Amino acid sequence: MSTGRDYAALLKEVVDECRPYAERGQLPSYIPELRKANPKLAGIALQTSTELYEAGDTRVEFTLQSISKVFSLLVAIEERGPEAVFAKVGAEPTGDPFNSIVKLETAEKKPPNPMINAGAIAVCSLIPGATVEERFGRIAGLLEGILDRPITIDEAVYKSERDTAFRNRALAWFLKEINCLEGDVEEVLDLYFRQCSILVNCADLARIGMFFATKGINGAGTPLVSARAVRLVSTFMVTCGMYNGSGEFAIQVGIPAKSGVSGGILGVVPGRFGVATFGPALDRKGNSVVGISMLKRLSDLLDFSIF
Ligand code: GLN
Repeated sequence: MSTGRDYAALLKEVVDECRPYAERGQLPSYIPELRKANPKLAGIALQTSTELYEAGDTRVEFTLQSISKVFSLLVAIEERGPEAVFAKVGAEPTGDPFNSIVKLETAEKKPPNPMINAGAIAVCSLIPGATVEERFGRIAGLLEGILDRPITIDEAVYKSERDTAFRNRALAWFLKEINCLEGDVEEVLDLYFRQCSILVNCADLARIGMFFATKGINGAGTPLVSARAVRLVSTFMVTCGMYNGSGEFAIQVGIPAKSGVSGGILGVVPGRFGVATFGPALDRKGNSVVGISMLKRLSDLLDFSIF
Protein backbone atom coordinates (compact mmCIF):
# COMPACT_ATOMS: atom_id res chain seq x y z
CA MET A 1 0.00 0.00 0.00
CA SER A 2 1.51 3.34 -1.03
CA THR A 3 1.70 6.17 1.48
CA GLY A 4 1.03 9.83 0.74
CA ARG A 5 4.74 10.46 0.54
CA ASP A 6 5.06 7.78 -2.10
CA TYR A 7 2.19 9.24 -4.14
CA ALA A 8 3.80 12.69 -4.26
CA ALA A 9 7.14 11.22 -5.33
CA LEU A 10 5.51 8.90 -7.87
CA LEU A 11 3.63 11.73 -9.53
CA LYS A 12 6.78 13.78 -9.84
CA GLU A 13 8.63 10.85 -11.39
CA VAL A 14 5.81 10.25 -13.85
CA VAL A 15 5.69 13.91 -15.01
CA ASP A 16 9.45 14.10 -15.43
CA GLU A 17 9.52 10.88 -17.39
CA CYS A 18 6.59 11.69 -19.68
CA ARG A 19 6.91 15.44 -20.31
CA PRO A 20 9.20 14.95 -23.36
CA TYR A 21 6.45 12.97 -25.14
CA ALA A 22 4.75 16.32 -25.88
CA GLU A 23 7.03 16.52 -28.93
CA ARG A 24 5.03 13.68 -30.48
CA GLY A 25 1.82 15.69 -30.37
CA GLN A 26 0.34 18.80 -31.91
CA LEU A 27 -1.77 21.68 -30.69
CA PRO A 28 -5.29 21.77 -32.12
CA SER A 29 -5.72 24.52 -34.69
CA TYR A 30 -9.40 24.41 -35.60
CA ILE A 31 -10.20 26.55 -32.52
CA PRO A 32 -7.64 29.32 -33.15
CA GLU A 33 -7.35 30.39 -29.51
CA LEU A 34 -6.23 26.88 -28.43
CA ARG A 35 -3.19 27.18 -30.68
CA LYS A 36 -1.74 29.67 -28.18
CA ALA A 37 -1.18 27.00 -25.49
CA ASN A 38 2.32 26.01 -24.40
CA PRO A 39 2.77 22.40 -25.61
CA LYS A 40 5.47 21.73 -23.01
CA LEU A 41 3.14 22.02 -20.04
CA ALA A 42 2.49 18.78 -18.16
CA GLY A 43 0.70 18.14 -14.89
CA ILE A 44 -0.81 15.24 -12.99
CA ALA A 45 -2.99 15.19 -9.88
CA LEU A 46 -4.39 12.44 -7.69
CA GLN A 47 -7.24 12.95 -5.25
CA THR A 48 -7.81 10.37 -2.52
CA SER A 49 -10.73 10.53 -0.08
CA THR A 50 -8.71 12.91 2.09
CA GLU A 51 -5.70 14.29 0.20
CA LEU A 52 -4.77 15.90 -3.09
CA TYR A 53 -1.36 15.05 -4.54
CA GLU A 54 0.00 16.88 -7.55
CA ALA A 55 3.10 17.36 -9.67
CA GLY A 56 4.00 19.57 -12.61
CA ASP A 57 1.73 22.23 -14.11
CA THR A 58 -1.40 21.42 -12.15
CA ARG A 59 -2.47 25.01 -11.46
CA VAL A 60 -2.46 26.26 -15.06
CA GLU A 61 -6.01 26.97 -16.17
CA PHE A 62 -7.42 25.47 -19.34
CA THR A 63 -10.88 25.03 -20.81
CA LEU A 64 -12.88 21.86 -20.24
CA GLN A 65 -13.75 21.34 -23.91
CA SER A 66 -15.13 17.83 -24.33
CA ILE A 67 -14.73 17.00 -20.66
CA SER A 68 -17.79 19.23 -20.20
CA LYS A 69 -19.84 16.57 -21.99
CA VAL A 70 -19.99 14.46 -18.83
CA PHE A 71 -21.60 17.28 -16.82
CA SER A 72 -24.30 18.15 -19.33
CA LEU A 73 -25.04 14.43 -19.64
CA LEU A 74 -25.37 14.10 -15.85
CA VAL A 75 -27.70 17.10 -15.76
CA ALA A 76 -29.79 15.87 -18.70
CA ILE A 77 -30.17 12.39 -17.20
CA GLU A 78 -31.13 13.80 -13.81
CA GLU A 79 -33.54 16.41 -15.16
CA ARG A 80 -35.10 14.60 -18.08
CA GLY A 81 -34.59 10.92 -17.23
CA PRO A 82 -32.57 8.34 -19.20
CA GLU A 83 -35.43 7.46 -21.54
CA ALA A 84 -35.85 11.00 -22.85
CA VAL A 85 -32.08 11.32 -23.26
CA PHE A 86 -31.58 8.02 -25.07
CA ALA A 87 -34.45 8.76 -27.41
CA LYS A 88 -32.18 11.42 -28.93
CA VAL A 89 -28.73 9.88 -28.55
CA GLY A 90 -27.41 6.32 -28.77
CA ALA A 91 -25.14 4.30 -26.48
CA GLU A 92 -22.62 2.78 -28.87
CA PRO A 93 -18.97 3.71 -29.40
CA THR A 94 -17.80 4.66 -32.87
CA GLY A 95 -14.50 4.18 -34.60
CA ASP A 96 -14.88 7.68 -36.02
CA PRO A 97 -13.31 10.99 -34.95
CA PHE A 98 -15.09 13.07 -32.28
CA ASN A 99 -16.44 15.58 -34.77
CA SER A 100 -17.60 13.10 -37.40
CA ILE A 101 -20.92 13.55 -39.16
CA VAL A 102 -20.99 10.25 -41.03
CA LYS A 103 -23.09 8.13 -38.66
CA LEU A 104 -25.88 10.69 -38.48
CA GLU A 105 -27.05 9.60 -41.87
CA THR A 106 -26.15 5.94 -41.85
CA ALA A 107 -26.87 4.58 -38.35
CA GLU A 108 -30.15 4.93 -36.50
CA LYS A 109 -30.53 8.54 -37.55
CA LYS A 110 -29.37 9.68 -34.17
CA PRO A 111 -25.90 10.47 -32.86
CA PRO A 112 -24.24 7.21 -31.76
CA ASN A 113 -23.21 8.36 -28.26
CA PRO A 114 -23.13 11.45 -26.00
CA MET A 115 -19.32 11.74 -25.86
CA ILE A 116 -18.85 12.76 -29.49
CA ASN A 117 -19.75 16.29 -30.56
CA ALA A 118 -23.02 15.43 -32.30
CA GLY A 119 -24.28 13.49 -29.29
CA ALA A 120 -23.19 16.16 -26.83
CA ILE A 121 -24.93 18.90 -28.82
CA ALA A 122 -28.12 16.81 -28.81
CA VAL A 123 -27.75 16.36 -25.03
CA CYS A 124 -27.31 20.13 -24.54
CA SER A 125 -30.66 20.66 -26.23
CA LEU A 126 -32.30 18.61 -23.45
CA ILE A 127 -31.04 20.75 -20.56
CA PRO A 128 -34.13 22.52 -19.20
CA GLY A 129 -34.34 26.31 -18.84
CA ALA A 130 -36.01 29.33 -20.44
CA THR A 131 -32.73 31.00 -21.45
CA VAL A 132 -29.19 29.92 -22.31
CA GLU A 133 -28.06 31.53 -19.02
CA GLU A 134 -30.50 29.45 -17.02
CA ARG A 135 -29.49 26.26 -18.81
CA PHE A 136 -25.80 27.02 -18.45
CA GLY A 137 -26.46 27.74 -14.77
CA ARG A 138 -27.52 24.12 -14.25
CA ILE A 139 -24.26 22.78 -15.69
CA ALA A 140 -22.11 25.39 -13.93
CA GLY A 141 -24.08 24.83 -10.71
CA LEU A 142 -23.19 21.14 -10.69
CA LEU A 143 -19.50 21.96 -11.16
CA GLU A 144 -19.63 24.63 -8.48
CA GLY A 145 -21.15 22.06 -6.14
CA ILE A 146 -18.33 19.64 -6.87
CA LEU A 147 -15.50 22.20 -6.66
CA ASP A 148 -17.04 24.43 -3.99
CA ARG A 149 -16.11 27.61 -5.87
CA PRO A 150 -17.63 29.83 -8.57
CA ILE A 151 -17.07 28.83 -12.20
CA THR A 152 -15.96 31.17 -14.97
CA ILE A 153 -15.50 30.74 -18.69
CA ASP A 154 -12.60 31.76 -20.93
CA GLU A 155 -14.29 34.44 -23.06
CA ALA A 156 -11.55 34.41 -25.72
CA VAL A 157 -11.80 30.63 -26.23
CA TYR A 158 -15.61 30.83 -26.21
CA LYS A 159 -15.65 33.50 -28.92
CA SER A 160 -12.93 31.78 -30.90
CA GLU A 161 -14.93 28.57 -31.04
CA ARG A 162 -18.27 30.31 -31.61
CA ASP A 163 -16.88 32.21 -34.60
CA THR A 164 -15.19 29.25 -36.27
CA ALA A 165 -17.44 26.28 -35.41
CA PHE A 166 -18.47 25.53 -38.96
CA ARG A 167 -18.43 21.80 -38.43
CA ASN A 168 -20.32 21.83 -35.13
CA ARG A 169 -22.89 24.12 -36.75
CA ALA A 170 -23.28 21.62 -39.57
CA LEU A 171 -23.72 18.82 -37.02
CA ALA A 172 -26.32 20.81 -35.10
CA TRP A 173 -28.40 21.63 -38.15
CA PHE A 174 -28.22 18.02 -39.27
CA LEU A 175 -29.41 16.97 -35.80
CA LYS A 176 -32.32 19.38 -36.12
CA GLU A 177 -33.30 17.83 -39.42
CA ILE A 178 -33.32 14.29 -38.00
CA ASN A 179 -35.31 15.45 -34.95
CA CYS A 180 -32.53 14.96 -32.40
CA LEU A 181 -32.12 18.60 -31.36
CA GLU A 182 -34.84 20.30 -29.33
CA GLY A 183 -35.39 24.06 -29.63
CA ASP A 184 -33.32 26.78 -31.27
CA VAL A 185 -30.14 25.55 -32.97
CA GLU A 186 -28.00 28.65 -32.32
CA GLU A 187 -29.06 28.76 -28.66
CA VAL A 188 -28.11 25.12 -28.16
CA LEU A 189 -24.75 25.72 -29.84
CA ASP A 190 -24.18 28.74 -27.62
CA LEU A 191 -24.77 26.57 -24.55
CA TYR A 192 -22.39 23.94 -25.94
CA PHE A 193 -19.63 26.50 -26.63
CA ARG A 194 -20.05 27.96 -23.14
CA GLN A 195 -19.75 24.61 -21.42
CA CYS A 196 -16.64 23.83 -23.50
CA SER A 197 -15.08 27.14 -22.35
CA ILE A 198 -15.40 26.55 -18.59
CA LEU A 199 -12.03 27.09 -16.91
CA VAL A 200 -10.48 24.44 -14.66
CA ASN A 201 -7.04 23.26 -13.70
CA CYS A 202 -5.63 19.77 -13.32
CA ALA A 203 -6.14 19.74 -9.53
CA ASP A 204 -9.84 20.59 -10.07
CA LEU A 205 -10.15 17.68 -12.48
CA ALA A 206 -8.73 15.25 -9.91
CA ARG A 207 -11.37 16.43 -7.41
CA ILE A 208 -14.02 15.94 -10.06
CA GLY A 209 -12.65 12.44 -10.67
CA MET A 210 -13.10 11.66 -6.98
CA PHE A 211 -16.70 12.87 -7.22
CA PHE A 212 -17.25 10.21 -9.88
CA ALA A 213 -15.24 7.65 -7.91
CA THR A 214 -17.61 8.11 -4.95
CA LYS A 215 -20.68 7.89 -7.20
CA GLY A 216 -21.69 11.53 -7.03
CA ILE A 217 -20.69 12.72 -3.56
CA ASN A 218 -18.73 15.96 -3.24
CA GLY A 219 -15.82 16.67 -0.88
CA ALA A 220 -18.17 17.85 1.87
CA GLY A 221 -20.02 14.51 1.74
CA THR A 222 -23.12 15.82 -0.05
CA PRO A 223 -24.67 13.72 -2.83
CA LEU A 224 -25.22 16.02 -5.83
CA VAL A 225 -26.58 13.58 -8.40
CA SER A 226 -27.90 10.02 -8.27
CA ALA A 227 -25.44 7.13 -8.16
CA ARG A 228 -27.34 5.69 -11.11
CA ALA A 229 -26.61 8.73 -13.30
CA VAL A 230 -22.93 8.59 -12.32
CA ARG A 231 -22.79 4.90 -13.18
CA LEU A 232 -24.28 5.56 -16.62
CA VAL A 233 -21.92 8.43 -17.39
CA SER A 234 -18.88 6.53 -16.09
CA THR A 235 -19.77 3.65 -18.40
CA PHE A 236 -19.80 6.02 -21.36
CA MET A 237 -16.40 7.27 -20.23
CA VAL A 238 -15.07 3.72 -20.56
CA THR A 239 -16.62 2.97 -23.94
CA CYS A 240 -16.41 6.40 -25.62
CA GLY A 241 -14.59 8.89 -23.36
CA MET A 242 -11.40 8.85 -25.40
CA TYR A 243 -13.35 8.72 -28.70
CA ASN A 244 -11.86 6.30 -31.22
CA GLY A 245 -8.94 5.79 -28.83
CA SER A 246 -11.19 4.35 -26.10
CA GLY A 247 -10.39 0.70 -26.82
CA GLU A 248 -6.65 1.08 -26.57
CA PHE A 249 -6.98 3.32 -23.52
CA ALA A 250 -9.14 0.66 -21.82
CA ILE A 251 -6.43 -1.92 -22.44
CA GLN A 252 -3.54 0.27 -21.36
CA VAL A 253 -5.04 2.32 -18.53
CA GLY A 254 -8.35 0.62 -17.79
CA ILE A 255 -10.37 3.36 -16.10
CA PRO A 256 -13.35 5.58 -16.99
CA ALA A 257 -11.86 8.76 -18.49
CA LYS A 258 -12.79 11.78 -20.56
CA SER A 259 -10.46 13.90 -22.64
CA GLY A 260 -10.76 17.37 -24.15
CA VAL A 261 -8.91 19.11 -26.98
CA SER A 262 -7.35 21.64 -24.66
CA GLY A 263 -5.29 18.77 -23.23
CA GLY A 264 -7.05 17.70 -20.04
CA ILE A 265 -7.98 14.14 -19.12
CA LEU A 266 -10.39 13.39 -16.28
CA GLY A 267 -9.93 9.90 -14.82
CA VAL A 268 -11.90 7.88 -12.30
CA VAL A 269 -10.60 4.95 -10.31
CA PRO A 270 -13.91 3.78 -8.83
CA GLY A 271 -14.01 3.76 -5.05
CA ARG A 272 -10.34 4.82 -4.82
CA PHE A 273 -9.15 7.95 -6.59
CA GLY A 274 -9.82 10.81 -8.89
CA VAL A 275 -6.88 11.23 -11.27
CA ALA A 276 -6.27 13.94 -13.84
CA THR A 277 -3.64 14.97 -16.32
CA PHE A 278 -2.92 18.03 -18.42
CA GLY A 279 -0.71 18.37 -21.48
CA PRO A 280 -1.88 20.46 -24.48
CA ALA A 281 -0.19 18.55 -27.34
CA LEU A 282 -2.59 16.02 -28.84
CA ASP A 283 -2.37 12.76 -30.75
CA ARG A 284 -4.24 12.25 -34.03
CA LYS A 285 -7.39 11.26 -32.17
CA GLY A 286 -7.48 14.48 -30.16
CA ASN A 287 -6.22 13.05 -26.86
CA SER A 288 -3.29 14.49 -24.86
CA VAL A 289 -0.10 12.58 -25.71
CA VAL A 290 1.60 13.37 -22.41
CA GLY A 291 -1.63 12.78 -20.51
CA ILE A 292 -2.11 9.29 -21.90
CA SER A 293 1.49 8.35 -21.31
CA MET A 294 1.34 9.57 -17.70
CA LEU A 295 -1.89 7.68 -17.06
CA LYS A 296 -0.44 4.49 -18.54
CA ARG A 297 2.55 4.77 -16.28
CA LEU A 298 0.54 5.55 -13.15
CA SER A 299 -1.95 2.79 -13.91
CA ASP A 300 0.92 0.27 -13.94
CA LEU A 301 2.44 1.67 -10.77
CA LEU A 302 -0.80 1.85 -8.75
CA ASP A 303 -2.71 -0.97 -10.42
CA PHE A 304 -5.61 1.21 -11.58
CA SER A 305 -7.25 -0.98 -14.17
CA ILE A 306 -10.81 -1.96 -13.30
CA PHE A 307 -10.58 -4.97 -15.61
N1 GLN B 1 -15.25 22.37 -28.24
C1 GLN B 1 -14.64 21.29 -28.93
C2 GLN B 1 -15.39 20.96 -30.20
O1 GLN B 1 -16.56 20.94 -30.20
C3 GLN B 1 -14.61 20.09 -28.04
C4 GLN B 1 -14.01 18.89 -28.72
C5 GLN B 1 -13.09 18.10 -27.87
O2 GLN B 1 -12.66 18.52 -26.79
N2 GLN B 1 -12.73 16.94 -28.36
O3 GLN B 1 -14.82 20.72 -31.22
